Amino acid sequence: MNFNSFALNEKFLPLLSAIGYSVPTPIQEQAIPLLLAGRDVMGLAQTGTGKTAAFVLPIVQRLQSGSRGKVRCVVVAPTRELAIQIHGVFEQFGPAFGLRSATVFGGVSAQPQLQNFRRGVEILVACPGRLLDHLRQSNVSLAAVEVLVLDEADHLFDMGFLPNIRAIINYLPKQRQTMLFSATMPDEVRHLALDVLNHPETVKIGGNALVSTVSHALYPVAAHLKTTLLLRLLEDLQSDSVIVFTRTKFRAKRLSEQLLKHGFRSTPLQGNMSQVRRQESLDGFRCGTFHILVATDIAARGIDVSGVSHVINYDMPDTVDAYTHRIGRTGRALHTGKAFTFCTDEDKAEIAAVERRLGCPIERKTLDGFDYRAREDQQQKTEFQRGPRPSSGRSPASRSRAQAPARTGGSMTAPGPARASGALTAPGSRAQTPSRASGTRSTETSQRSSLAPRRRTSARDYSVR
Ligand code: AMP
Repeated sequence: MNFNSFALNEKFLPLLSAIGYSVPTPIQEQAIPLLLAGRDVMGLAQTGTGKTAAFVLPIVQRLQSGSRGKVRCVVVAPTRELAIQIHGVFEQFGPAFGLRSATVFGGVSAQPQLQNFRRGVEILVACPGRLLDHLRQSNVSLAAVEVLVLDEADHLFDMGFLPNIRAIINYLPKQRQTMLFSATMPDEVRHLALDVLNHPETVKIGGNALVSTVSHALYPVAAHLKTTLLLRLLEDLQSDSVIVFTRTKFRAKRLSEQLLKHGFRSTPLQGNMSQVRRQESLDGFRCGTFHILVATDIAARGIDVSGVSHVINYDMPDTVDAYTHRIGRTGRALHTGKAFTFCTDEDKAEIAAVERRLGCPIERKTLDGFDYRAREDQQQKTEFQRGPRPSSGRSPASRSRAQAPARTGGSMTAPGPARASGALTAPGSRAQTPSRASGTRSTETSQRSSLAPRRRTSARDYSVR
């Protein structure tokens, strides 16, 4: 099949070949005909499948005729980065049909957005909070909207945006075409889909399976050796496109600084950075100025950077969905990629949940010549002390997803001496990290905290991402 097979305006064809799209991806094959026929669609697609073009092409085709200067399509996305990316795809096709697209998100001045409204745009790609502000202040009207897209709906839900989404929908005409895309389908998203979609067709690519072009490996390691292990791995990989994920914003910032100190071209991407700095990091990583992006979950979901060779989970993600999103940054558009995850004894439950989703155990790896028995020095002691896992600010649903029961059995066992105990403990290390399940710290850790009450080791740093 090629793009000629769709009932698309032929003006699309040179544009598609100019950006190197010769054949539609599976989701495009399935979704484009349905969307061109005006159907509502629920797209269950893994990241990196080409879902953006799957909705952009039919939307541009639909809007090519009809009025100008009114908002006729709204795409709601969870993050600014994703909104900018989607807007970029509209920019590849819209101008040839006299269609203008604009972004709307917080963290930047509202003035350019207001100017765009006054100038008149047909397509808005928006994050929910700022769009709702504009609507409440009557800065823009959505009364002429014909198409609504909710992208990364599971992420919108994780970020607590569903009430905003429902409020935004009240400003839209009931008669419209609606599309909802999500990599995973928590109950809340399913309920939203039932409410907002009208007799939808479901398009499913790979279900909830993890990206098939990615190979997975676990690196059991004591928490205090993670940075040393990371440095060794990065030296061995010699890759110029690696994303490292950490659990907290502070850790992303600090780890990126450490990598820089060791000569790696690294940059952080986390929610405490200004929008301008975030975009600089992302652009620098995209164009190769930076080889390593050290990111948190919130900052990095949905980001499309082609050619990422490795995703390294410096910290195990809290949920299988978070794992899915993280590793979706590699193996994109049918390239292959590798996902390495550092794990400690505390990560058993999460690993078991990921393995259940994968349907097989993940290979445990050790690095030849690495000293897994090295003791913790003073700096390592205070560097990345782990506080309790966040217990507030997350929805009960995402919490329950994180609490999958641990699987028992040999596949959870670490290589080397720890194997006999059936634990995930790194080779040579002792399991002495504080209990996460109870949210308490070991005596040793609390003593350290009281002796050195540094901002970066406070519990707050671990609860705010
Ligand atoms: P998305 O899932 O929309 O983030 O797309 C992932 C990547 O696939 C992006 O870099 C797109 O440019 C690329 N892509 C989308 N459709 C195609 C296609 N038909 N052929 C080749 N690459 C594509």
